Amino acid sequence: MRRRTFLTASTAAAAASALPKVVMAQSENPLLAPWTGPFGGVPPFDKVKAADFQPALEAAMAQTLIEIAAIADNPAPPTFENTIGALEQAGLASDRASTIYSIWSGTLSTPEVRAVDRAVQPKLAAHSDKILQNAKLFQRIDAVYQARDKSKLTPEQARLTEIRWNSFVRGGARLDPEAKTRLAAINFQLAGYFTIFNQNLLAEENDHALFLKDADLAGLPPDVRSAAAAAATDQKRPGEYAILNTRSSVDPFLTYSDRRDLREQVWRTFYSRGDNGDARDNNAVIQKILKLRAERAKLLGFPTHAHWRLSHNSMADTPDAAMELMLRVWPSAIARVHEEVAEMQAVADKEGAGIKIAPWDYRYYAEKVRTARYALDLNEVKPYLQMDHLRDGMHWAAGQLYGLAFTPVTNVPVQHPDVTVYEVKRGAEHVGLWYFDPYARTGKRSGAWMNAYRPQQTYGGKVTTIVSNNANFVKPGPGEPLLVSWDDAKTMFHEFGHALHGLNSQVTHPTLSGTRVFRDYVEFPSQVNEHWLPTREVLSRFALHYRTGKPLPQDLVDKIDKAHTFRQGFDVTEYLASALIDMKLHLAGDADIDPRAFEKAELAKLGMPAELPMRHRTPQFQHIFASDGYSAGYYSYLWAEVIALDAAEAFQEAPGGFYDKGVARRLHDHIMKVGNTVDPRVAYRAFRGRDPDVKAYLRDKGFPTA
Ligand SMILES: [Zn+2]
Repeated sequence: MRRRTFLTASTAAAAASALPKVVMAQSENPLLAPWTGPFGGVPPFDKVKAADFQPALEAAMAQTLIEIAAIADNPAPPTFENTIGALEQAGLASDRASTIYSIWSGTLSTPEVRAVDRAVQPKLAAHSDKILQNAKLFQRIDAVYQARDKSKLTPEQARLTEIRWNSFVRGGARLDPEAKTRLAAINFQLAGYFTIFNQNLLAEENDHALFLKDADLAGLPPDVRSAAAAAATDQKRPGEYAILNTRSSVDPFLTYSDRRDLREQVWRTFYSRGDNGDARDNNAVIQKILKLRAERAKLLGFPTHAHWRLSHNSMADTPDAAMELMLRVWPSAIARVHEEVAEMQAVADKEGAGIKIAPWDYRYYAEKVRTARYALDLNEVKPYLQMDHLRDGMHWAAGQLYGLAFTPVTNVPVQHPDVTVYEVKRGAEHVGLWYFDPYARTGKRSGAWMNAYRPQQTYGGKVTTIVSNNANFVKPGPGEPLLVSWDDAKTMFHEFGHALHGLNSQVTHPTLSGTRVFRDYVEFPSQVNEHWLPTREVLSRFALHYRTGKPLPQDLVDKIDKAHTFRQGFDVTEYLASALIDMKLHLAGDADIDPRAFEKAELAKLGMPAELPMRHRTPQFQHIFASDGYSAGYYSYLWAEVIALDAAEAFQEAPGGFYDKGVARRLHDHIMKVGNTVDPRVAYRAFRGRDPDVKAYLRDKGFPTA
């Protein structure tokens, strides 16, 4: 997953050098001031006070509007430079303030920060609309756009002009004044509901934990026990064991606990988040969000929210194309689930368990089958997967592929003592900074993600990027190694792939740089990067046993490889069920939707197997309800994975395999470095010599390709 900060240069804007200066003196509020210090300036994390957020964001918005007015009211005829180019350099104070605020909101949230969220999110939405609806500004953008073929723009300038024009048109720039007013009101209300959705979910995750005694731990491997012990200590109940209501705590418990009664309890608590009919129930919030989105789509001339979302910033273009791909894969996925369930039922029967496989049994019995069929116990792998060694392994592979070198630095402020910072260089050249925030803590949202604190660009002078990776590993006790699961190791490589996409960026304009590409394409560089974890070159150097220092034995590697298609029925189905429900919710128009009933009915129509849930049930579906972010866009992971697996085959087919210099060079030149300066379809063809083929995906999952 990758998250954007709130007000990027693509929504905020203003003119270059001759700007009226800041409304609130920047010295009064460190969030607004240009970043100083080494590496072209770094975020002033040591000067952040939550009390500064709201005044800084409000001052930044006011400042941005002054900058926008200067562009819109420019008496000179519109040109690329004085309009589109000027917008690239506008709102910089706003970018800085909102970047820091979003880090606090996402990883260091407190009641004080949550109060700021509630107060400013609707204002930020209204602010964005003020810019999109500025008629004089749009006239100038439209003039540059209409003249784009005659005005000798560079290809990057032409693309930026089209993208900017599109985002204004899709954002309502051509509506009549009455419709514009309604649109702004809708966006304002949506921002408020997104915040409520998010805060409900965070509270559900923070406030429910299952506390266990020694006698309740049957089946749990030592590292899961010690993580649970650390979590209980953190919750001020030392001597007990806490299973937190987050995925990283719940998944291992469901996989290993022998206590079926506790598995059921943990499962029910986790999959009921936001769906308990209490003050934190998200169903009513979702209804309101869906209604407002449907109305907005109509206002903008689209039949549904899904049509509007896919009409821009997507490779799929239409909901039909996305649905077609999902439904091509779905029957194979659920057929495989039925096979997996039959196999697990047989194991349970043989044990004399006297049960019928239920959702809280799936992970548990799947592990038993894995052990029986592949003689692979992932607990045997885990002692070789130390988080800090894997981090070094990701860095090493990036060195092999892209010539990047990572060195820890201590001369920059961090937002929390657990965060470490690395300078990234290519040869002697400074490329950027990588911040790494690996541990779970109260006030940090769950999951793993990347974001860009500062995008790469050369337009207003050379600016290097600052990116970060975030995860939610349970921090080990002092002196203990942090061992991660194979899946979590893959996730580390995934998020690092997003970071590499940002670090490799070499474009002119910030709006087109790094990960600022199409939603359904941005997961391609991250997913493709997962393929370097299982390479012999990485495992032999970095998958070292935490006690013996010996590398992961080859026979275990072979077993992992053989078991690669194992449990794909579960993995693909739980994901696709969420992606399909997302699309169906947003294709339903303004129908009255009871989210709980809708989910149930639509899953039944799809033939969803009873033995597993959606990965994100509707009331917990942060991707689609915490912002517009991945709404009608959760299919993007499949879309991008099809591309990533096709790209991975390019390496597999090459003489040098995953370290083939020629393929790596093509990946760098056509994909990693170009950001959004090239249409993704064109970029991919340049890399692969053809369009992506879905068969690579089907082969990888072990599904039939016919
Ligand atoms: Zn991702």
